[in-house]
Parts: sequence; C-alpha cells; structure tokens
Amino acid sequence: MKTAEIRKRWLNFFAERGHTVVPSASLISDDPTLMFTVAGMVPFVPYFTGLIPAPFHRATSVQKCIRTSDIEEVGKTPRHGTFFQMNGNFSFGDYFKKDAITFAWEFLTGSEEDGKLGFDPKDLWVTVYKDDDEAIQYWTEIAGLPAERIQRLDADTNYWSTGQPGPAGPCSEIFFDRGPAYGIDGGPATDDDRYVEIWNLVFMQYLVSDVKSKTEFTIKGELPKKNIDTGMGLERVAFIKQGVENMYEIDEVRPVLDRAAELSGRAYGANHEDDVRLRVIADHVRSSLMLITDGVTPSNEGRGYILRRLLRRVVRAMRLLGYEAASFPELFAVSRDAMKASYPEVEADWSRVSRVAFAEEETFLRTLAGGTEILDAAVAETKAAGNSTLSGKTAFLLHDTFGFPIDLTLEIAEEAGLRVDRAVFDQAMSEQRSRAKADAKNKKGHLADLSVYSDFRALGETDFRGYDELITGSKVIG
Ligand code: ATP
Ligand code: MG
Ligand code: MG
Ligand code: MG
Repeated sequence: MKTAEIRKRWLNFFAERGHTVVPSASLISDDPTLMFTVAGMVPFVPYFTGLIPAPFHRATSVQKCIRTSDIEEVGKTPRHGTFFQMNGNFSFGDYFKKDAITFAWEFLTGSEEDGKLGFDPKDLWVTVYKDDDEAIQYWTEIAGLPAERIQRLDADTNYWSTGQPGPAGPCSEIFFDRGPAYGIDGGPATDDDRYVEIWNLVFMQYLVSDVKSKTEFTIKGELPKKNIDTGMGLERVAFIKQGVENMYEIDEVRPVLDRAAELSGRAYGANHEDDVRLRVIADHVRSSLMLITDGVTPSNEGRGYILRRLLRRVVRAMRLLGYEAASFPELFAVSRDAMKASYPEVEADWSRVSRVAFAEEETFLRTLAGGTEILDAAVAETKAAGNSTLSGKTAFLLHDTFGFPIDLTLEIAEEAGLRVDRAVFDQAMSEQRSRAKADAKNKKGHLADLSVYSDFRALGETDFRGYDELITGSKVIG
C-alpha cells in the first residue's frame, strides 16, 4: 500500500465521520516559540487553549512535520525521520475518549477492501496512563484487547500538557509488534524496536495550574469542553504495511537511498555503517526538499542554519561513501519525483528549490575541497599521538583560510572520537578580531598615502593564496 494511498484512506475515513479536512500548514510554524511545525496539532493550538473559537467541531489533517530533536536517531532506529507526516484527527469539545478509541481501532483493523488498513488485532498493543481506568475499559470493550496487551505507564510518556496552565490530560498510544525476531516479548514498555509506536491519542481532559514541569502540576478540575488530539505517523504505518524494515525504505524515501547507493557504488544492506549513511542521506534530502519548498533558505542562523546542517550532512555522508562530486542534482530530483504525488508544489516550484539546493552544495564542496585533507591529516596525527583533543590552532587555520566553519570541524572531529580545543580556537578568533580592528584603523589613516598604489593593490588582492600565505607568515600587501 503506497504512502499516498494510506494518506487518502485516512482523510476519507475521518471525512466520512464528520471531520473537516484541513490542508497541511507550512513547516514554518506560526507559533513564535517553535522553529518548525513538530506535530499535527500545532496549527490548532489556539483552538485547544480557547484563545480562538474553533471554526469546526472536528477536523482531520496530514501535517508535514520537522523534528530536529530526532536527528541523532535518523538511520539508526527504524522510525525517526527529521521530516515526517503526522495524520491527525481532532475534536474541539465534541467527541471524546470513547469515540477516539473506536475510530482508531476501526481504522487500523477494519478491512482493506473497506478502505481501512487491515491490521491484524493480534499485532497491536496499547499503553495508557497508569490511572486512566476509563481508557482501559474502552480498549477492553471496544477493541477486545486482552489485559496483558494494555500496559499502564507513567506521566513521562503517557501524559500531555503544554508546560503552561491550561488544558492537559492522559495519552494512550498504539504499538505494532514486529515479532520475536526484533526483541523480547515484554510489550512496548520494555522494547521500542520490536514494538513500534504508530499512534498517539491525547485526551485533553483537565484544566491544570501551578505548573512546575510537563509532569508536575495541580489538576484544577475537568475541562468544560474536552478535546481530542491524535497523531499517527504516516511513514511508520507505511513501512509496516509495505513490509519493509524501516521508514527509509518506503516508496516516498527509498528511491533516494537507492540513487545514493548507485552513485557511490555501495550496496545497501552490505555494511551497517554505510546503511546508516544511506538512510541519513535519504532522510535529509527529503527534509531539505520540503523545507526549501516551504520557503526556508540556507543561512547561518535559525531555520536556515538547520537546513544548512541537513544539506551539509548529506554532502559529508556522500563523501564518506566515497562519492565526492555534486550529488544534489540527482538526489533532489529523485526525491521530488517520490514526493510530488502528495505535494505537487515540489514540482511546481522546482526551478527555485533546485537552484537553492544546488548552489549550497557547490559552495560547500568548494569549502570541503580546501580543508578536508588538512583536517583529516590533523585528525590522524592527533590519534596517532594518542591524544583525544584536536588542536585549536588547526581549527582556527581551517576557519581562517578555508572558511571551514567551527561547527563542521567539531562535527568531523566528533565522528572521529575527538574533541576540539575550543579555548585555543576562541582565543585565536578574538586575537584575529582585534588585529582586524587595528588594521582597519591603520588603513583609514593611510588611505590618502596609499591611493597612489591603487593599481598594485588591485593586483595583490586578486592573488590571495590563503593557506600558503598563512604558513609562510607573509602578508598580502593591500
Ligand atoms: P517516539 O517515542 O517513537 O520517538 P513520540 O512519542 O516522540 O515517538 P509523538 O510525539 O507521540 O511521537 O507523535 C505522534 C506520532 O508521530 C508517533 O506515534 C509516531 O507515529 C509519529 N512520529 C513521531 N516522531 C516521529 C519521527 N521523528 N519520524 C516519524 N514519525 C514520527
Ligand atoms: Mg520521539
Ligand atoms: Mg513515544
Ligand atoms: Mg508518542
């Protein structure tokens, strides 16, 4: 079952049950406290908190999400993407716990012929908040789940609140059991590799105050209008329904992975490290494509910086796979084709999107070409000497001469198991800044005198030879 098909079934199912279909909001969230849209409910927060009256009682969406907090998991777990789609159904003071559980169970286990997903009930487990007897009752009555497949968990995983006074409530999550080949038989409470979380149901039930943290607060009472917020991971359901191992192998992502493997000549499935890199590439290319399409451009701060890091990680992973030429024209085009069925804008806006992505790769490849050898040599030397800290002078040299950003040096060093002597680097940076200031002052003072040499200056400046100049200590006259 294609990802786009699951998405369509979802929207139909909830539309047939009185939900208004709301298009995905942008990845750039309206909420000033959020860098990106991280969940399906984000665009609906003002309705949940009561700030704005909801224009509908029920809604459903397939929301584009970015969770950079999951970046370290990408490629290593089967289920974490930096970009993913969250299918949601929402009730604003309309239906509550019983209907939310009924809908979820029916959509998951109803037959495929009938437009649903056709999961075998025997493969599903649920967790509930430890005191939520009501939820346990519904899971037993409606889903017929045996007691051992309903696990009671604590507030850290099974309670939702904003961390602010306002609505809060217990969650109940649904998990798919991948079977004994993937881990021990203890249910989602013990193993999140064997038991994959696919759907979170949040029951906004209480009004809380005296909020100390997300799990410490006083319950003031029941909300007069209770809400439902759910999120089902589209990619997670897709990978299970498609019978593949992880979300990077689904129809919307796998083609990028395959093309990266083809370009680099590394077979997927042959070597664990290479496999992780291929999955990271496939994930990050798609995330970047979606971010640029939503208007983010690479820069050194905020959202643009996150995008820049994703793009750089692709380039670096490709290099680690032994491919050093530009790969974005191939990889992004493949990702576009895999995503355009659900997001026609990736094709409509392709000329702009591709220009942004390709230019960033070109610039970064030039940076890398200059400094990689020196950095690799320094890393090897440091290790050979039995040290665990890369010299701050080398980090400064790379920054100053090759435009190698310090975070890139940190990243590469970290991959090699090294730290960087930050204190020495920072000291060199501040010395350089004072020198630059003094230089600027001097130049100002001598401007009239030097003007006569302007022809030479022009020549000198075009002939800056960076690295060589720095190690010989000679200065370009200018
Ligand atoms: P996990 O515990 O697996 O990290 P989560 O509890 O952080 O997931 P929720 O915040 O409950 O996830 O989000 C709702 C649903 O969205 C999850 O049940 C899952 O199906 C999906 N989801 C969450 N994070 C990701 C991600 N990084 N990539 C893909 N799907 C995700
Ligand atoms: Mg998570
Ligand atoms: Mg979870
Ligand atoms: Mg969850």
